[in-house]
Amino acid sequence: MVGQRFLEALAERGGSWRVTVLCEEPRAAYDRVHLTSYFSGTRADELSMVPAGFLDEHGIDLRLGDPATSVDRAARTVTARSGEVFGYDALVLATGSFPFVPPVPGHDAEGCFVYRTIEDLEAIESWARTATTGAVVGGGLLGLEAAGALKAMGLDTHVVEFAPRLMALQVDEGGGAALRRKIEELGVTVHAGAGTQEIGVGDDGRACAMSLSNGEKLDVDLVIFSAGVRPRDQLARDCGLDVGERGGIVVDATCRTSDPHVWAIGECALASDGRVYGLVAPGYQMAEAVARELTDGTGSFTGADTSTKLKLLGVDVASFGDAHGTAEGCLEVLYSNSREGVYKKLVVSADGRLLGGVLVGDAGSYDLLRPLCLSGAELPAPPEQLVLPASAGAPVAIGVSALPDEALVCSCHNVSKGAIRSAVTADGCADVPSVKKCTRAGTGCGSCVKMLTTIVRDELTANGVEVAKGLCEHFEHTRAELFEIIQVRGITGFARLVDEHGTGSGCDICKPVVASILASLSNGHILDGEQASLQDTNDHFLANLQRNGSYSVVPRIPGGEITPASLITIGEVARDFGLYTKITGGQRIDLFGASVDQLPLIWKRLVDAGFESGHAYGKALRTVKSCVGETWCRYGVQDSVGLAIELELRYRGLRSPHKLKSAVSGCARECAEAQSKDFGVIATSAGWNLYVGGNGGMTPRHADLLASDLDHDTLIRTIDRFLMFYIRTAERLERTAPWVERMEGGLDHLRAVIMDDSLGICDDLDELMQRHVETYEDEWRATLEDPDRLRRFVSFVNAPGTPDPSVTFVAERDQIRPAKPGEDGAPLPTAGLIAGPTLEVRTS
Ligand SMILES: Cc1cc2nc3c(=O)[nH]c(=O)nc-3n(C[C@H](O)[C@H](O)[C@H](O)COP(=O)(O)OP(=O)(O)OC[C@H]3O[C@@H](n4cnc5c(N)ncnc54)[C@H](O)[C@@H]3O)c2cc1C
Ligand code: SF4
Repeated sequence: MVGQRFLEALAERGGSWRVTVLCEEPRAAYDRVHLTSYFSGTRADELSMVPAGFLDEHGIDLRLGDPATSVDRAARTVTARSGEVFGYDALVLATGSFPFVPPVPGHDAEGCFVYRTIEDLEAIESWARTATTGAVVGGGLLGLEAAGALKAMGLDTHVVEFAPRLMALQVDEGGGAALRRKIEELGVTVHAGAGTQEIGVGDDGRACAMSLSNGEKLDVDLVIFSAGVRPRDQLARDCGLDVGERGGIVVDATCRTSDPHVWAIGECALASDGRVYGLVAPGYQMAEAVARELTDGTGSFTGADTSTKLKLLGVDVASFGDAHGTAEGCLEVLYSNSREGVYKKLVVSADGRLLGGVLVGDAGSYDLLRPLCLSGAELPAPPEQLVLPASAGAPVAIGVSALPDEALVCSCHNVSKGAIRSAVTADGCADVPSVKKCTRAGTGCGSCVKMLTTIVRDELTANGVEVAKGLCEHFEHTRAELFEIIQVRGITGFARLVDEHGTGSGCDICKPVVASILASLSNGHILDGEQASLQDTNDHFLANLQRNGSYSVVPRIPGGEITPASLITIGEVARDFGLYTKITGGQRIDLFGASVDQLPLIWKRLVDAGFESGHAYGKALRTVKSCVGETWCRYGVQDSVGLAIELELRYRGLRSPHKLKSAVSGCARECAEAQSKDFGVIATSAGWNLYVGGNGGMTPRHADLLASDLDHDTLIRTIDRFLMFYIRTAERLERTAPWVERMEGGLDHLRAVIMDDSLGICDDLDELMQRHVETYEDEWRATLEDPDRLRRFVSFVNAPGTPDPSVTFVAERDQIRPAKPGEDGAPLPTAGLIAGPTLEVRTS
């Protein structure tokens, strides 16, 4: 990562360096910080950090899979594994770190992994398919990310941490306790204060158990070591460069090593402040420093911000500055609420400046507190007011405007609030993308983009510039405004809308949004006329595109209730078409592996048996999950299945800004997990409680209780209005959770609008929903009945009936799965661009 940043910094500064990059890994430099998103569907190529054409444009010679094996400093040459020898005038080492694996017996058994590269994750993913229990050795930031990944893959997950608490480096004792509770609530078992003594290995050579120093024994079949990293300094050691006692290539304030022709940056370097930084932001600053040094001799790196925020597991935890309160005379201000799982600590100096902090359970203020801390500015309010949550009566909430200009907003690229404001005011940047381009802010780990957007908008407004809030370059209107325009003007097609209210011919952003609005309002067939060309791939074929180019088919099963006859039909269809079959978490049966030309044949069989589209491909209602409720369950107090079926049939096919999920539980035990849904219902002995704005996924959010003990009709009416108000006013791809969160006036306002009709729009919302319910038509059936629509279901336009030969499968556990590159005739990947570097740099 740091090597790539160095290449970009050098390229930006121009000059006459001719650069060769020697890379150990087989692929282009990629974003390790977001590596874990690989497990939630991000493809390896999507993690690439090398802009298209970058290497060619700057004449960079990239050698993939050919690591440097030795450096001859006297001759100023580097030898690569291939045997090729490269001369250099300046050599930049950016060899990163390797994961530390404690040398316990069994650590190298099959089933033991580290967590550093895409190849590591591929190996873990493949092993996890046959594993049931996994353990992570190390409860730091990375260990918890790895644990989150194991949990997400459905494994019983343990975290073993030697220190008495999780994330010991970043959080204090109180924060560690709150964090542990949160992690355990997620179903991960934490063993703190315990060392790993041995990995038990079975006769087959595979890891099968773990013995801990506290006497515990765990049955495991997958182990991930995440016990820290060590700088990769062997190359430097072998050629006699100075290295630190505990590793790391010693560098000075310009990142120069003990050899004046060699520099070291990133995790392999021991910086002049005596630290080896294991984070990307300091590495980027080192990269900038060396690029400056090599071009105009002004480089300097003397230390960096080590604030961190956990990205996974749905747990808010962040620490910044002097989190442990080590500064002399510092004071701590604490808020701790075990019931809510919230712990916040601010460390302040005697004169009221923020020195650091720890936030667990609610890290919403991290974006503001971190820059305040780094800038050393005075706090805009007493610290106790800054830790108290609004629900506990906090009298003030500080905004971005309270930050001084020197506050560091983007620590990856060292960009202050003042620099962002100046990009707008002095350099004339008129929107966020141009500020990003001009300052690089927001292009690193991305965590500051929200704040960056606010600063840019505030600055534009202060300069009297009207802030562009349009959907894209073709429409100056927001999605909510387009909704109103389309409705009021009775527009039924994209062409008229763009003619009368936009410019150009539309793009991948505005076309699906308009298609969704038209579908929400008219319920017309999604593949009709002009509508068809607006859809993205999934809607285009009324099926979900899968990773190898095949499609999955999901029939609707309202409430998860299904007759044996229908179940048999699904089984027969799956058997006859050779489809991979899986029961989903949303109580449906997914059929995978269909080719485009098979889709109509499959639907025909399903539609004839009474099924309809489950809309798994659309930004529409997906499922209303249910428990068995009072009909079968001894705790149930209402008919949760009956209500779930009613809700699913009422809202089926309802097009919305994002997908919608729902659930109904028959009592407060909540077996259907209604509180993690966009709208969820829980039965009470007096009626139904309605929750809104929840979701699972990467950033889970518990739904808020909107109304209690509603009778049936009031419940339906309230959900109708909630959904229509959301569809009408939300932004593009905004789920209900962020929509509810950003609503001015919050839940009280929402209640006032949809329950007390404070805006006088409820009749309108009711009518819109009624129209949807009355005009619903199954998209699969309608497609089968229309030869025109059917014509699009061919793999090759000029050879109908010929299946796509690049879609290949192999057998696994008695079913099919997509073939991986090289398996069963699947094509091998072509070479990528660039990977993590050891750099050889020379002048021409
Ligand atoms: C899962 C995960 C999550 C992370 N999350 C965060 C986060 O949230 N925030 C954060 O700040 N940091 C995070 N990090 C750390 C961050 O990724 C590193 O700080 C960053 O990658 C360091 O960059 P680097 O260039 O020094 O090392 P690397 O990115 O590791 O690059 C070093 C490269 O050098 C190659 N190499 C080594 N030896 C040789 C040789 N002899 N010849 C040629 N090539 C060689 C290696 O193969 C590697 O590709 C995370 C790391 C991981 C693994
Ligand atoms: S939520 Fe209540 S009614 Fe439904 S299955 Fe669970 S315990 Fe039974």
